[in-house]
Amino acid sequence: MPLEAGLLEILACPACHAPLNDASTADTPELICTSKDCGLAYPVRDGIPVLLVDEARRPA
Ligand SMILES: [Zn+2]
Repeated sequence: MPLEAGLLEILACPACHAPLNDASTADTPELICTSKDCGLAYPVRDGIPVLLVDEARRPA
């Protein structure tokens, strides 16, 4: 499910305020922080990004 056009441009990581990269796959829609020091992956539920640090998947 693609995100609404332009939405990604205004989204930022709530933890470090870096831009987010749409790294969605068919099975796992998610947005990943582009900061190398952060790199949290945020889930997308029903097409709506969940930009909560508590909900984010931490990088390995
Ligand atoms: Zn971040």
